[in-house]
Amino acid sequence: MGKSKQVGKHSKGKKKNISKTWKTKRRTKDLDQIHADMIPVNAVKLLKQDVDYDVTGCAQHYCLHCARYFVNLKTLKEHFKSKPHKKRLKKLKEEPYTQAEAERAAGMGSYIPPKTVEVHTQQVEEDMD
Ligand SMILES: [Zn+2]
Repeated sequence: MGKSKQVGKHSKGKKKNISKTWKTKRRTKDLDQIHADMIPVNAVKLLKQDVDYDVTGCAQHYCLHCARYFVNLKTLKEHFKSKPHKKRLKKLKEEPYTQAEAERAAGMGSYIPPKTVEVHTQQVEEDMD
């Protein structure tokens, strides 16, 4: 017997349940935390993690920008093409809000608008089995 593939959600067309977005159990990282993760030194650590059997996909397939683990390379690649991931990249383009920026906006020092950073999807190994 082959595995059945789930297509779509049961909640299709219905309004999104907001209680889910505020639950802390499955809460992912905040954008500023992800900005910290995007620093190459930290990114390498996250992308090359030790095998952890308690984590989805043994912690081998991680999307840096969404702070999510995936079962295998195929699902990770599919995720890169998905809407939530692209939305996330867009959000991450803007630099995180800092105290320095707040002070500049308040008239202390010269105001420099927040820089936009180029965010690209991480590279994945092309070998698929
Ligand atoms: Zn992602």
